Amino acid sequence: MRRRHSLLAAYPVLEETFQFPQLMTLTGSHLIAGRESAPHGHFYHGVNPANSTQLKPAYADATKDEADEAMCAAEGAFDALRLAPVETRAALLDAIADEIMALGDALLERAHAETGLPMARVTGERARAVGQCKLFASLIREGSWADARIDHAIADRQPLPKPDVRRVMMPIGPVVVFGASNFPFAIGVVGTDTVCALAAGCPVVVKGHPAHPGTCEMLGRAVMKALQKTGLPAGCFSLLHGRGTEIGMALVKHPHTQAVGFTGSLRGGRALMDAAAERSHPIPVYAEMGSINPVFVLPGALKERASKIAEAYIGSVTMGVGQFCTNPAIVLGLKGTELKQFVSNATAHATKVAPQSMLHRGICEAYDAGTAVWQTIDGIDLAAESEMRVNHEATQAACRIFTTTLDVLEANEELRREVFGPCSVITECSTLEDMLRFANSIEGQLSAMIHGTDQDLIDFAPLIRVLEKKVGRLIFNGFATGIEVCPSMHHGGPYPASSHSHFTSIGTASIYRWTRPVCYQGFPDAALPEALRGKNSRGSMRTVDGTLTRDDA
Ligand code: NAP
Repeated sequence: MRRRHSLLAAYPVLEETFQFPQLMTLTGSHLIAGRESAPHGHFYHGVNPANSTQLKPAYADATKDEADEAMCAAEGAFDALRLAPVETRAALLDAIADEIMALGDALLERAHAETGLPMARVTGERARAVGQCKLFASLIREGSWADARIDHAIADRQPLPKPDVRRVMMPIGPVVVFGASNFPFAIGVVGTDTVCALAAGCPVVVKGHPAHPGTCEMLGRAVMKALQKTGLPAGCFSLLHGRGTEIGMALVKHPHTQAVGFTGSLRGGRALMDAAAERSHPIPVYAEMGSINPVFVLPGALKERASKIAEAYIGSVTMGVGQFCTNPAIVLGLKGTELKQFVSNATAHATKVAPQSMLHRGICEAYDAGTAVWQTIDGIDLAAESEMRVNHEATQAACRIFTTTLDVLEANEELRREVFGPCSVITECSTLEDMLRFANSIEGQLSAMIHGTDQDLIDFAPLIRVLEKKVGRLIFNGFATGIEVCPSMHHGGPYPASSHSHFTSIGTASIYRWTRPVCYQGFPDAALPEALRGKNSRGSMRTVDGTLTRDDA
C-alpha cells in the first residue's frame, strides 16, 4: 500500500505496556453503519506521548471496500434522516450528548493518554462537545436557521403576474469529516462538523485521526448507540480508522460524497481540495488550515499596560502547548522603550513556562525543526525559552519567544509560516506605515488581534480597514485562543486560512456548509416542506414578502 510520509509514522514506539482499563470496550474495529469491521492489514496503535508507550488495541487502515460500504450506507440513509421529523434529529443530538457523558471518566482517561492533553483540558473540551450537541438540537427545534423565505403570488401585478416563490435551506447529502488532532472531542468524531451535519440532515462518515484512535472508537460507539435509541438508520454514521492518504482520498473521491469537512495542515487540506476539484462532479471541501494570527500592539496600549498584555500574550501562546490554529504567532509593535518593556515582560513569563507534552512526536519534531530554522536566520534572536529542561521522552516542547525587525520578517518567508507549537515572534516596526505594509502583505488569516486604547483606534483606523480584508475575526484587547461557540462566531478566513472564507467551522452558522437553498415556485401549501407552509408551526423567524416575522404566512 502506498503511503505518504506521515508525521505519526516517525513515532519511535518503545514498548507495548500500557493496558487501558476499559480495553473490554475497544476492539479496534471500523464502525460501518452499525456493523463492526475487524481491523486487518497494516496495524498501528495510539501512543501515549507522555511516556512513549503504545495503547491497545491495534487499529488498521480501512480499505477502499470499507469506504465504499460506508458511503453507500450513508447515501441509503440520507432520505430517512432528512425527512425524519425535526424532533427526531434533535433527539439524536441530545442522545449523542448523553452517550458521551455516559462514557464517564474512561473517555477522559483515554483521550488524556492518547493526546497528552491534561485532564482539565479534556474535561473542558468534553463539555464543549456536549454543549455543541445541545446547541444544534435547540437550533433545529427552533427552526429559524433554515432561512425560510416566502414571497406570495400577486396575480394582478402589472405588467406581469408575480408567481408564488419560496426557498429554504436543505441538506446536501453524505458528508465526510476528517477529525482534527488537536481537539479530540470538539473537532473530532462528535465535533462541530459531525454534529451540525447530522442536525442539517446529512449522514456522516468520519475518518478518525490516527493519533487518538481509541478516543475515536469510544465516541463512534456513542453515536451508534444514539442512532439505535432514536430509531434512525445505522447508515447515518460510520467511523473509519486509517493513516496515510489512501482512505481519506477514497472517501473524498467517492461518488456519494457531497462535501468534506477538514481541520489540519495546509498541505493536507490543499491535497483534499485538489482531489475534490478533480472529480467529474467537484464537491466543496471546507478546510480549516491554520494561521499566524498577527497581534498589533498599539502605542497607547503599550504605554498603559505593556506588562498585562505581555502576560496574557504568553498565556495565549502556550495554551494547549501552542497547538491551536488561533495561536498568536507574530506580534508587532512600534520601536521604543515601551516595546522594550513589553519584550522584557513577555520573556520573563516565557522562561517560567514549564515544557509540556505535545499531541504526538511528529508534531513535536516539526515544532523543534521549525523553530530551529528560525534560529538560523540572520537578524532574529531567541529572546526567551522555558528554563526547565525539556523531557524528550515525554514528547515535551519548550516555549520559545523570538524577537526581530520588520525587515527581517518581510525578507524571510519561513517566519510568516505557521510553526505549530508554543512559539511566537515579536517584531519591531518603525512607523504606522510599516504596520500597514505588513498587514497588506499577509495571506488570509483566521484572526488578527489589536491591543489599543480608544485613541489608538482613531489614530490607527486604516489598520482595521486593511485587516478587515485579510481575516475572519478581529479581536480588540484580547486573544483569539479560546473560541466562543455561539451564533455570531466566525472561525474561517480567506485562503489559506480556510478554503471558503464565507463559511465558519465553529458556531451555529457552521451548519450552512452542509446545506443548499431549494426554491419552490407555484406549489400548493400541502406539497411544500413544513418550513415553507402558510402555518408557521414552529414559530420560526421567516422572511415573508420581504419582512422578518414569526407569524403565519
Ligand atoms: P494533518 O497532517 O493535516 O492531518 C489531518 C487529517 O487529514 C489526518 O487524518 C490525516 O491523515 C489526513 N490527511 C492529511 N493529509 C492528507 C492527504 N493528503 N490525503 C488524505 N488524508 C490526509 O494534520 P495533523 O495531523 O492534525 O497535524 C499536522 C499539522 O497540521 C500540525 O503540525 C499543524 O501545522 C497542522 N494543524 C492545524 C490545525 C488547525 O487547527 N488548522 C489543527 C491541527 C494541526 P494522516 O495523519 O493519516 O495522514
